Amino acid sequence: MSDSGDMSGTPPWEEEGEEAKPSAAELEAAGQSAMFGDPAPPKQPETPAPAPAAEAPPVKTTPAEPAQPYRVLARKYRPQTFSELIGQDAMVTTLAHAIERDRLAHAFLMTGVRGVGKTSTARLIAKALNCVGPDGQGGSTIDPCGVCEPCRAIAEGRHIDVIEMDAASHTGVDDVREIIEAVRYAAVSARYKIYIIDEVHMLSRNAFNALLKTLEEPPAHVKFLFATTEVDKLPVTVLSRTQRFDLRRIPTPLLQQHFAEICRKEDVEAEPEALALVAAAAEGSVRDGLSILDQAIAHADLESGSDEKAQVTAARVRDMLGLADKGAQRRLFDALLGGDPQAMLAGVDQQYALGVEPLALLRGMMELTHRIAVAQVGNAGSDAPTEEERQAVEEWAGRLSAGQVHRLWQLLLKGHEEVRNAPDPLVAAQMALLRVLHATDLPDPGKLTRQLQDMAANGVAAAPAGEGGSPSAAPSATVDWRELCERVDQAGRLLVANTMRDWVRVIDLAPGRLVYSLKPGLGEDPAAGIREALNEATGQRWQVEIGSGEGMPSLREQEEAARAAEEERIRKAPLVEAALAAFPGAEFVEEDEAPRGDRNWSKQA
Ligand SMILES: [Zn+2]
Repeated sequence: MSDSGDMSGTPPWEEEGEEAKPSAAELEAAGQSAMFGDPAPPKQPETPAPAPAAEAPPVKTTPAEPAQPYRVLARKYRPQTFSELIGQDAMVTTLAHAIERDRLAHAFLMTGVRGVGKTSTARLIAKALNCVGPDGQGGSTIDPCGVCEPCRAIAEGRHIDVIEMDAASHTGVDDVREIIEAVRYAAVSARYKIYIIDEVHMLSRNAFNALLKTLEEPPAHVKFLFATTEVDKLPVTVLSRTQRFDLRRIPTPLLQQHFAEICRKEDVEAEPEALALVAAAAEGSVRDGLSILDQAIAHADLESGSDEKAQVTAARVRDMLGLADKGAQRRLFDALLGGDPQAMLAGVDQQYALGVEPLALLRGMMELTHRIAVAQVGNAGSDAPTEEERQAVEEWAGRLSAGQVHRLWQLLLKGHEEVRNAPDPLVAAQMALLRVLHATDLPDPGKLTRQLQDMAANGVAAAPAGEGGSPSAAPSATVDWRELCERVDQAGRLLVANTMRDWVRVIDLAPGRLVYSLKPGLGEDPAAGIREALNEATGQRWQVEIGSGEGMPSLREQEEAARAAEEERIRKAPLVEAALAAFPGAEFVEEDEAPRGDRNWSKQA
């Protein structure tokens, strides 16, 4: 989401005289919807809209709408005391100490993304410095009274000694010179003469130079309060002369809480999930969050009858923001992990039909995976927006191993890249998710080992490949299955060879005859392909068919079982056993994951 206030390339003070960018204040005044385009329908030219899709919400787009009750919450709930300023505790503490000890810097710099409260903070500091208390006798305080004349004047923006300047629209040296001239005179009515310069990085180079002279030796009665979204565009000479406060992005749960409180004050009902969505979309900015909330409330007002209370629903907010339904997202994720390709594809289709972009879909899956990983290290789904999601994430976190979660992440990340570059993103998303689904459906090594051991005991198949134990894979002495796979591979039939290695469980193998069963999960019977490939690779006619019975594990299954057995052997070593006891839950991680569809293992045998 790009901020309309951002600028590209060259530092702005080098383009003297150019000032096309609207200031933050102007944006705010303009209905503050800069961030999300202008989703409010009324402002659009009234083309007789050809009735949109059937599911379109029943918003009455009548010309009567311009009277929409925009509340402009951001302005209404601008913090008037430091205790109302949320999420900036560290800064407030520092400032309180500075005021207490009378060690105030001459210039302060407030940095942070837009909407975190930089100008609000600047005004609060101005109040704190100039408050005289209800009785007119008080001194500077971190707790300005809000009722004395200076406090009220500053809140209303009419204090004669608190000069606000927006550097976005006053970039020139003349604007600054004016200030500098005025600096020499004492404050008219207040303790301090305070200059608040917003978006200070927009000042021209000359303006900065002019300002510097004053910053070097400012009169004792003058304070500068700078605010900027782009601190790295400030000359270091300015940075070094200011006390800097980095205002933090406000954490989502705190924002959500804040918005809930505001809805209570506004007498608006809002679903917790709706507020969670707003908070997440706000990306740490109170102001952005409040403008989304504004719109959501306006929509809710329109939808509710005149006698019922407006309700902000999650569905409405999702609609507004073009977000995926979290519930549907979780069902899709479940299908993905559960290895249910039909449910998974149906889920993708459903989301796509609802207008969720394939890329957003992948991102949603990645977000869940990230949550699961975080939950696994003990932060039990703490930032999950809803109780349902928290529960689901915790359940997944318990079910999956850390290794699986990381593999899942890798696969989704790769899928995300593919979808982004694909000519048909939907198809790419389906393919990527199918790949994830098949990869998470790997066999359980423990079970395989047991199966192999049973077989070995019954003398049906060779023992699992240990270190030297070359598995003469074929039950028949005359044809070696592994070698046969290799020949198919060398004949250029790589896919068939992979299928033979990965999925085929040999029941009977003789020259010209293969009877097998399949490891569950392969879509269709590969018999025809294998027959053709064998005919070609051996120059002999083959009879290939599915037989009854289990057959011996496929080569890949054997290899996986062998690896599991080896791991088990290592695990049983006294030292490792002790280590595992010391670090419960630790697991083995191979340094280099063998590439999928690898052919290396055949050389290890
Ligand atoms: Zn006061």
